[in-house]
Amino acid sequence: MRIGGRSILHVDMDAFYASIEQLDNPEYKGKPVIVGADPKGGKGRGVVAACSYEARKFGVHSALPISRAWKLCPQGVYVRPRMKRYADVSAQIMEVFRRYTELVEPLSIDEAFLDITGSIALFGVPEQIALSIKQEIRERTGLTASVGLAANKFVAKIASDIKKPDGFMVVQEKDVGAFLRDLPISRLWGVGPKTEHRLHELGFRTIGELAGAEREWLVRSIGSLGEHLYQLSRGHDERAVVPNWEPKSISSETTFDEDTDNRELLLRTILELADHVAERLRNDNYRAGKVTLKLRYSSFSTHTKQHSLDRQIQTGEEIAAVARSLFAQFPLKQKIRLIGVAAGDLHHEGHDPRQLPLFETSSDTKEKLSHTVDEIKEKFGADALRRGSQLL
Ligand SMILES: [Mg+2]
Repeated sequence: MRIGGRSILHVDMDAFYASIEQLDNPEYKGKPVIVGADPKGGKGRGVVAACSYEARKFGVHSALPISRAWKLCPQGVYVRPRMKRYADVSAQIMEVFRRYTELVEPLSIDEAFLDITGSIALFGVPEQIALSIKQEIRERTGLTASVGLAANKFVAKIASDIKKPDGFMVVQEKDVGAFLRDLPISRLWGVGPKTEHRLHELGFRTIGELAGAEREWLVRSIGSLGEHLYQLSRGHDERAVVPNWEPKSISSETTFDEDTDNRELLLRTILELADHVAERLRNDNYRAGKVTLKLRYSSFSTHTKQHSLDRQIQTGEEIAAVARSLFAQFPLKQKIRLIGVAAGDLHHEGHDPRQLPLFETSSDTKEKLSHTVDEIKEKFGADALRRGSQLL
């Protein structure tokens, strides 16, 4: 069966963290499992990292405040994340992917795009490859994945989501229009709440409506994003599967049990967070050229300041020193709810940074990459991109 010019898979594990908890603790099977911060009897202040399908029935979802989850589902099984275990399973899954193609682009710990166009001669038709991957993941990890198969990334990603959990959906090129037509415009890659609102104002609610818009008018109305969205709405997406993209930043943040303006506590926390970040940098062999400090006040207003360095740093002390000087620039007019430290402008050790894909790619590709990042953030909350060193 011909899918089109390319055969792209989007593979996404089902309720990944929660499914691992249910796998490792059979007594959790069939129960609403909520992975995240300590709910502290409804007084906890972090967020839900992930939850099982049983928990979703109560309205619980990732990035929801844990206190809210507790209200919605007090009978849930609340567990702290075990990032090391999740990362181990993730490595197994990525290994399965790479048996079928070298063109694997991880989007997060539990999902990836695979370009299997060149694998057909060796492994069979695309549908067969997709099913083999699903089966192999289940055999190796005991977990289920959902898979979308299409001629491009955009359609494959939507397809994997349609029949979750344990889903498999093929969208042939001739069916793309009908497949996208009734989906809300928020499904378009790059449409955040702001753009969604603007498109609603212009009278567009579904992808099909946007596909019928006049292209030049759309670009005039919403700017350069208009061209991108017009193409996506018609199911056109030429983006390549880019293997092994580098993380844009490594960050760590924490929500205080009680809002605080205790300067000493804040400075000490900055050092702890910086140490966390530094540990991840060293584990992954990165040095950072930029430090960002994030503060959320009691009022929930959130602010960041960043500083680019003329050198690259890797130790907790160095990162903390920069973060503290950024902290000094914030007025402490309100108590602080959350504080975070991020290391950006990452350079892999022992390489010329300009040889890294992230740095050598055209600005076009960088833009696409930031779209990816934004999309993940929009879908899962900013927490989704943190790499397991966070204090939940
Ligand atoms: Mg997933």
